[in-house]
Amino acid sequence: MIRSKPLVVLDVDGVVADLVGTLKGRLQLPEDHPVTEWDLSKSFDKYDYSYIRGMMKQQHFWETLKAYPEGVAMVHRIRKRADILWCSSPFVPCSGWVAGRLNWLRSILAIRKYKEPFIATRDKQFVRGRVLIDDKPENVTNWALTGRPAILLDQEWNQDYASPNGLVVRGSWDEVDEILTSAFLHASI
Ligand SMILES: [Mg+2]
Repeated sequence: MIRSKPLVVLDVDGVVADLVGTLKGRLQLPEDHPVTEWDLSKSFDKYDYSYIRGMMKQQHFWETLKAYPEGVAMVHRIRKRADILWCSSPFVPCSGWVAGRLNWLRSILAIRKYKEPFIATRDKQFVRGRVLIDDKPENVTNWALTGRPAILLDQEWNQDYASPNGLVVRGSWDEVDEILTSAFLHASI
């Protein structure tokens, strides 16, 4: 397919899928239970984390994640000015992860209707696209090192991050539109 609009690469967990909120709900933890590290093993005790790993091995878990309403609204706004490519790092211990992820993206965000491609990889910097939107500091850093702008979606677990070269801008779901305007101006890939 020939694309004329800029291509925005979007992460799923922590951007549109509320993985952490879903886990807190299943564990019956309060909503304000602190999750200050992207690595979940550091924000839950070892018993809860072992339970989490067990849940995450089930395809059904990935199909029943809560969505961030602000994230879904952001996707609808981005679609008016850009094409979206979904890029998500697989949870390898779950053999049905790809199917679970695709089923969720199809039912919650209608990616089949919008003909949006999906790539499962943790090495997102090798993917084409002008801008990456992700909540994981390592991902936005590796992307920015290729000379393309990235947006670090502001979350409790990435507050310690400092951009290495100014190509990463932190923003909330509501701030993404404005940041994209400037990112499109400065990226030509
Ligand atoms: Mg993520």
